[in-house]
Amino acid sequence: MKTSKRAQEVPPSATIAVTARAQELQAQGVDVIGFGAGAPDFDTPDYIKVAAVEALKAGKTKYTAAAGIVELRTAIAAKLKKENDLDYTPAQIVVNIGGKHSVYEAMQAVLDPGDEVILPAPYWVTYPETIKLAGATARIIQTDKANDYKITPEQLKGTITEKTALLVINSPNNPGGFTYTPEELKAIAKVLEGTNVMVLSDEIYEKLIYGDTKFISFAALSEDAYNRTLTLNGFSKAFSMTGWRLGYTAGPLEAIKAMGRLQSHMTSNPVTFGQYAAIAALGEPAAEAIEKMRVEFERRAKYMAERLNSIGGIECPRPTGAFYCFPDVSSHYGRNINGAKISGSMDFAQALLEQAKVALVPGLPFGCDNNVRLSFACSQEQIRKGLDRLEKWLA
Ligand code: PMP
Repeated sequence: MKTSKRAQEVPPSATIAVTARAQELQAQGVDVIGFGAGAPDFDTPDYIKVAAVEALKAGKTKYTAAAGIVELRTAIAAKLKKENDLDYTPAQIVVNIGGKHSVYEAMQAVLDPGDEVILPAPYWVTYPETIKLAGATARIIQTDKANDYKITPEQLKGTITEKTALLVINSPNNPGGFTYTPEELKAIAKVLEGTNVMVLSDEIYEKLIYGDTKFISFAALSEDAYNRTLTLNGFSKAFSMTGWRLGYTAGPLEAIKAMGRLQSHMTSNPVTFGQYAAIAALGEPAAEAIEKMRVEFERRAKYMAERLNSIGGIECPRPTGAFYCFPDVSSHYGRNINGAKISGSMDFAQALLEQAKVALVPGLPFGCDNNVRLSFACSQEQIRKGLDRLEKWLA
């Protein structure tokens, strides 16, 4: 059977692949410690579930406007005003079927074949593939330890060409767990002034920040930034609603209208009763539930980074956001561990899983082969056990 070249060129998601292999081993009764998860290990708060049940009982089971019900887009506009100091009308917001869908649809709406997209590495695995699916080309900016894995204004300036259509900013970042400071973002925004470069600002981890880290929306930096930015966010991470598939994009009216047109043919509206639950999610009890989760993640971030740094040959910056550690393990490359030759992050992850039964995600698909990603969206006990195994395996 024929499949399209387009489909053939897209590999399966590496993060989903490692989770699948770990689950396969678990199903065989193997005691695997999973650091692969991209989902908070907390349940969706009850008040959100109750709102979904009530919406179902009230018959909210039919199609809605393709871009989402106006009540939800109004609630999102109010959230963006209150928390992010951003002025968007409901017409400037489209509710998507998860943040991943927001990314895909945004790329489809603003990119043409031949366009270039600047993508700082490490990047979330979905960006390069959605850029490719829009016929555009990713121009990767490689970052490193010395710059805390963040791009500099000089690097950005040197990468912009006449073909540059978009810059992807993801802060707090997956897989790095790092966050740009407001000053760093301002310097980036300054470089873009006078260019036609749009920005996709993926702010899905905004609530999960640690220590004295400050979060600011890219579009809130200046009027110039506002006019060129698509602000992307969703309910998956902050409200532990990964399975509900609810994301959203806010931005210049023309771009959002284009996304809405595409959505009206691709998927139509996000699940109707879920949209009502999303309105509830943005309501008052939210802050308390989110803060509880954030505090727990902060504790784990500290513990995991400290433990990783105490293992010989591992260097791990303390995460300032999201729920990932992204240590550099490259000093172990070239070794032979129990018969497995470790020449990069793929070998490292595979051998660790098969020999020590610890699942983590190789850095290669995130654009950083020196590193591996460990999610701390799992219990403290699992973190301790998994890191014990990792330490013993490397010794
Ligand atoms: N952006 C980033 C950076 C992510 O890590 C994720 C989830 N892995 C998403 C967007 C999308 O999440 P969802 O589709 O569940 O809303």
